[in-house]
Amino acid sequence: MIEKSAIRILVLDDEPFMLKLLGHILLNLGFAPATTCDNGRAALEWIDSTGKHPDMILLDLNMPEMDGVEFVRHLVERRYSGSLILISGEDERMLQAAEKLVRAHKIRVLGHLHKPVAPEGLKALLEKWAQPPQSKPQAANKIYGADEVRAAIANGELINHYQPKVKVATSRVVGVETLVRWQHPRDGMVFPAQFIGVAEAHGLIDGLTRVVLTGALAQAKLWQEMGLVLQMAINVSMDNLASLDFADFVAVQAAAAGVPPQRVMLEVTESRLMQDPRAPLEILTRLRLKRFRLSIDDFGTGHSSLAQLRDIPFDELKIDQSFVHGAWDNGTVRAMFNASLGLAGQLNMEVVAEGVENQDDWDFLRKTKCDIAQGYFIAKPMHAASLPGWITGWQGRMCEEFQAAS
Ligand code: C2E
Ligand code: MG
Ligand code: MG
Repeated sequence: MIEKSAIRILVLDDEPFMLKLLGHILLNLGFAPATTCDNGRAALEWIDSTGKHPDMILLDLNMPEMDGVEFVRHLVERRYSGSLILISGEDERMLQAAEKLVRAHKIRVLGHLHKPVAPEGLKALLEKWAQPPQSKPQAANKIYGADEVRAAIANGELINHYQPKVKVATSRVVGVETLVRWQHPRDGMVFPAQFIGVAEAHGLIDGLTRVVLTGALAQAKLWQEMGLVLQMAINVSMDNLASLDFADFVAVQAAAAGVPPQRVMLEVTESRLMQDPRAPLEILTRLRLKRFRLSIDDFGTGHSSLAQLRDIPFDELKIDQSFVHGAWDNGTVRAMFNASLGLAGQLNMEVVAEGVENQDDWDFLRKTKCDIAQGYFIAKPMHAASLPGWITGWQGRMCEEFQAAS
């Protein structure tokens, strides 16, 4: 680990008082004297002249000549590889937007601070510097070609994982969502983001969904026979709803597996705009008439929106994880969460919160009227074989929580 005193820090702020203050706090925290600049041009000149990037920059967003956002663009041009801490007197939403922008440029942001800056806040962010950023394995960025995806479907390389959905009020496990994985012979486990889009773009999604659905229903039957009655959710892409025989296919498969339609939830996401809404509307309405249940997935993102909610008879609304995780702490996210919850309530729909990642998310949810929760805090998607054991463990975990609370 690098010694604190060896970390090169640049502080950029147009207010001389802030430069002094931040420099002072850094010294008190054991860092070497920082380089300070009161305008972006001078800071860039300094960086260019030393030929070495600082390890960290404390950056004020509001500066009269070159503002912080413009300064970041110059850093991108210079392929800046250090970290940033943003500082501003702007409101929280502005700082969050700036932070998102910097991340989109692939620059590491340790966080943001409001003025006046408290030494403890700065200290907490600086401590993050020592932790290595979480990098994803190389293969995670690879996008596969249509031929490879076609072969994977044909060769049976797709396997279903299942993620539990639990009732918030009682913690009871009410169902699972099927999430497809590709067991790649060379690259190991490949996630849907790397092949669902390809399948949709090349007319392969129909075959893919049929394989996933048939597998999920067979699994539901096995669990049913063990006495494990669970609702089975399956993701359906809007592109699946172009072939008019889809509703009949689902009905035939469910009947063959002996799974009642009420126990099958079809989660519909729309990543791009529907060309012709008539076929999806017809298929979804027919599925609903056959008593299958419909869920609007990732609500609030992409085209999963109010117009869909108005036109299609959904039973369930899944609030996207970006409006769930951190809602306890972030007023903007919480407002979106509450609005979605209220909307679903008025439409008599069940609500699922996705992306319940930690204890804080869970505790927040338990204070709301949200029906069902799903997320890493409860369980990650798992092999079918692991589910019965997980349920036993979860019941134990919830018993302990209940005892600790009472
Ligand atoms: P989705 O349907 O919204 O599924 C939820 C995704 O969030 C899953 O990612 C799940 O692993 C992940 N997730 C669950 N809990 C948490 C959490 O607490 N935090 C975070 N950060 N993530 C969480 P996954 O499995 O990678 O799937 C991504 C998307 O791919 C799915 O989003 C769904 O739209 C699509 N997909 C997955 N399987 C299928 C399928 O069989 N057919 C189709 N058409 N799409 C599928
Ligand atoms: Mg889903
Ligand atoms: Mg989702």
